[in-house]
Amino acid sequence: MGKNHNISDLQLHTGVEAVRCYQCGKCSAGCVLASEMNFPPSYLMRLLQTGTKENYDKILFSNTIWLCLNCENCLGRCPMEIDIPKMMDYLRTQSVKENKLHPDSKPILAFHRSFLDSIKYTGRLYEVGLVAAFKFRTFRLAQDLAIAPVMYLKGKLHIFPEKFNDRRRMKRIFAQTIENAKTDNQ
Ligand code: SF4
Ligand code: SF4
Repeated sequence: MGKNHNISDLQLHTGVEAVRCYQCGKCSAGCVLASEMNFPPSYLMRLLQTGTKENYDKILFSNTIWLCLNCENCLGRCPMEIDIPKMMDYLRTQSVKENKLHPDSKPILAFHRSFLDSIKYTGRLYEVGLVAAFKFRTFRLAQDLAIAPVMYLKGKLHIFPEKFNDRRRMKRIFAQTIENAKTDNQ
């Protein structure tokens, strides 16, 4: 089992010092999704602290990083103020980058991408576009189709997106965000 530098990379890119965790378990006790996760946040911290590639891969392949809602309950409860949500963001990025995705992550990732596309092209959340893109990405074509007419009749769905004039600005924001992410990962 070879040691690696993943824990120092994580610290470099996020400022989070996983070594400061002393396994009190308060984060896991307060995490609403801990019971659904492959392992809870405190266990993830311990895996990180071991510094082995095997355990780091275990984290990247887990559903834990994808089920995390970034609700910050763990951060609020942690006596060491360890920013687990920030760390989860980084780990998700690494999981995509290294193509080590848990099967549960695929629809979540498809949703994230569809959401961002909606913002990028329409300037706000355009529900019909978001759902169509999500279904296309996940092949869940028939799922929840029956509720669409009800939502439409209640005025919750708009067939066309609202007018959006500042596409160039939005494009710049996305381009800048991608540049920032590249710099952060160097
Ligand atoms: S931020 Fe994630 S890990 Fe922390 S409590 Fe919320 S869901 Fe759990
Ligand atoms: S609450 Fe903080 S110190 Fe306690 S186990 Fe979780 S990360 Fe570690």
